Amino acid sequence: MRKSRLFTPGPTPVPEEVLLELARPVGYHRSAEAKATLAEVVRGLQYVLQTEQPVYVLTCSGTGAMEAAVSSVVAPGEKVILCTAGRWGERWRGILKAHGAELIAVEAPYGQAVTSDQLADALTHHPDAVAVYTTLCETSTGVGHDIAAFARLTAASSALLVVDGISGIGAMECRMDAWGIDVLVTGSQKALMMPPGLAYVAVSPKAWRKIEATPVRNFYFDLRRYRKALAEGPDTPFTPANTLIRAQRLALERLRAEGMEQVWARHARLAQATRTAVQALGLELFAQRPSNALTVIRVPAGVDGTGLLKKLEQHFGYKLADGQDTLKGKIWRLSHMGYVDPFDVLGAIAALELTLHSQGLAVPLGAGVAAFQREYARAQAL
Ligand SMILES: *Cc1c(COP(=O)(O)O)cnc(C)c1O
Repeated sequence: MRKSRLFTPGPTPVPEEVLLELARPVGYHRSAEAKATLAEVVRGLQYVLQTEQPVYVLTCSGTGAMEAAVSSVVAPGEKVILCTAGRWGERWRGILKAHGAELIAVEAPYGQAVTSDQLADALTHHPDAVAVYTTLCETSTGVGHDIAAFARLTAASSALLVVDGISGIGAMECRMDAWGIDVLVTGSQKALMMPPGLAYVAVSPKAWRKIEATPVRNFYFDLRRYRKALAEGPDTPFTPANTLIRAQRLALERLRAEGMEQVWARHARLAQATRTAVQALGLELFAQRPSNALTVIRVPAGVDGTGLLKKLEQHFGYKLADGQDTLKGKIWRLSHMGYVDPFDVLGAIAALELTLHSQGLAVPLGAGVAAFQREYARAQAL
């Protein structure tokens, strides 16, 4: 027998009560009940994003909300600074290019983070940039960006700060209003403990002023439509994935009950214990400024990284993610965001130890598990 265990950095495991909610009959999306549910989901998302601004619910994957955060905000030919350190920064690049933005790229090599000094330089040299686009957690490398520091810089300039928080929100501290983020995007299938299908966007008053001055060039992703529908309904401009909205309400209730500070602290403990375990196995961490959403492990020299992940899944049911594009076979990505507890991760580490051992690598069986437990015991008094 083999159980399937999902450790990919999206999608992630979904709590049982959320799955049961998804099995209920489909309702009418303009009913009073649906509107009340949407209102509750918006309040829950405001808490998670730490904002008093309305949060718009879009039926699409995270990239759709990213596209809304470009097409509604930037007019063709306008200058934009892009802080990129991996594939998700490159996703911004692709969307910005498609919408005709003039790009100033501020880059860090894979595994490293863009620094606030780099951004400060770019803002000094490009005072005409209308926005800075970046990523909270660069899921392709495991790097977390210092968004609070980026926001201090943009708050003191005329540029907006637009953040892809799709994998970071719910796993890493992020305070939209207190930090001064202007557009914050996230999605349902990462640390918000849901299947894919919904994406969320919140917009600051500074960003609304820019959006209102920007010609409309899109229909489905025009954020003005979402603002109007939410204010008048509360409603969505188009038929939403209302079964997912109902389910998201329950997952958000979980986060509310635990409290965001505790949720962030839990992810920090899991991440720290996982990093300690990986190093105890003689393996190297890939991210120099690691996020708490996932741990990215450098594949040791001489090991077939892709093949080993296949064995890990075939024999033990643990599904980790391979590197993408040029990192394929070179890194392993182990997610610990969302509905994950220490014993889930301990199992993954034990399975990784056994798989490495079966390939003839000199890993001391139990070393990662023991290191995880020691670190966890140190960080959390029972
Ligand atoms: C998963 C992820 C996305 C994904 O977007 P989808 O359109 O939902 O596939 C975007 N950005 C980051 C940082 C992610 O981790």
